[in-house]
Amino acid sequence: MDFRLSPDDEALVAATRDYARRVLAPAADRFESFTTADEFPWDLMEEGTALGLRALPLDPELGGRGADMVLQAIVAAELAAGDVGAAYFFRHYWRFARLIPRLPSRVRDLVVTGITTDDRFVPASASTEEGAGSDNALPYDAPGHGAMLAARQVDGGDWVLDGTKTMITNGGIASLYFVLGRTDPGRGIRTGATMFAVPAQTPGVHVGPLYRKLGQRGSPQADVTFSECRVPADFAVSAVGEGYASAERGLVAANVTNAALSLGVAEAAYEEALDWSIDRVQGGVPIHRHQLVAHDLGWMRSHLDAARSFLLQAAWRYSHDQPFDPGWSWGVRVFCADAAIEVTRRAMLLFGGRGMMAGYRVEKLVRDALTLTHGNGTSAILTARLGTHQADARIAARAAGSGGRPSPEAATSETRAELAAQVAAGLTAAVTAEVHHG
Ligand SMILES: Cc1cc2nc3c(=O)[nH]c(=O)nc-3n(C[C@H](O)[C@H](O)[C@H](O)COP(=O)(O)OP(=O)(O)OC[C@H]3O[C@@H](n4cnc5c(N)ncnc54)[C@H](O)[C@@H]3O)c2cc1C
Repeated sequence: MDFRLSPDDEALVAATRDYARRVLAPAADRFESFTTADEFPWDLMEEGTALGLRALPLDPELGGRGADMVLQAIVAAELAAGDVGAAYFFRHYWRFARLIPRLPSRVRDLVVTGITTDDRFVPASASTEEGAGSDNALPYDAPGHGAMLAARQVDGGDWVLDGTKTMITNGGIASLYFVLGRTDPGRGIRTGATMFAVPAQTPGVHVGPLYRKLGQRGSPQADVTFSECRVPADFAVSAVGEGYASAERGLVAANVTNAALSLGVAEAAYEEALDWSIDRVQGGVPIHRHQLVAHDLGWMRSHLDAARSFLLQAAWRYSHDQPFDPGWSWGVRVFCADAAIEVTRRAMLLFGGRGMMAGYRVEKLVRDALTLTHGNGTSAILTARLGTHQADARIAARAAGSGGRPSPEAATSETRAELAAQVAAGLTAAVTAEVHHG
């Protein structure tokens, strides 16, 4: 594995770091204080857009940079060290850029033109509902559970959507929503849901007020209601009944860049703490001279290095491994979020009472870190998925006679072995199709 960047990519990372430090970090008050979509700080995003950050993974033939996942991860971390909300803003486009090869042509044109030519084009992904959070992420694959927003086809043509999505990132500023609808309520979500593209100006789209939240305040969330909302037949962007798999592929990639956002927040807190430990004098010496403080600095540094190594390996595998094991994406997303919480917490404590005071940057970074545990499913759910995935893969390997100890159970149950093999192979195969667009 070689994580070295080309000179061009190094230059982009340096320019991103400069933008994050010079423009994003000093604008914390503006990112923290806007309460309506109208107040969204578009001007702060202009320099990032000019650097090509919105189109980072987009195919060069379509006007993007064609960045692999390693470059995406490094750029995401640099942005998040400036402001995690702004980092989410840019990172969100990458998810949709990766979908482009599979989109129907009219939706593809909307997304490509939007990303490359329209500064106000913003995509959003809408799956969560009042009664469907972890049930989507796990998923709990049973009729009546998971996303239940109704989607029905009229006269074999247009689709009509009815229902409400909740906590949708970019709700209010989005121009195009990707909405998970239930096309067959008699089936579970894996085979009964379909993904639709819904332009924000479609009659029947209503956006609620922005949520006020603990951290990550530069990235807005709102509830979005779709009432008798009609879209053309070719705005179904997955095959009918296969919307879950389509969403899942996107999330596997997004987990890796989400991990990078956590790393960026944690790195920023560490940098704050390191400088503070040199400047703050107590007991007659700069506090880093106290062994307990030096120990904390060392602990933070080694955990950041471990998180970065894990992230780069997961990112490299995403862009090079055939097939890519999605366990890497769940694992790295959770590991980096946990590392960010612990690193920012320790950094805050080194500031003593000031660490809790608004205006000290470390206070914001702790709040930001605490919000990074719910992206694409809670950390608990993603960790459980990783464990289940490992066990299923082992059962499949045993059944195939190629791994682990022989299992009398697997040897005597063809059905069980077949099921396990399907589970283990299904998502990895689905993700493989996307890897080279990574
Ligand atoms: C900042 C932010 C941005 C978001 N952006 C989007 C977005 O753009 N699009 C979108 O669709 N959604 C978005 N969400 C929603 C997010 O995906 C959900 O919050 C997440 O999936 C968890 O669902 P929930 O909040 O309903 O929690 P619940 O599912 O109600 O979970 C509550 C608790 O129960 C635990 N739990 C639940 N089920 C199980 C189980 N089977 N086994 C063990 N434990 C369980 C969970 O781990 C958690 O601790 C966003 C959320 C946040 C905070």
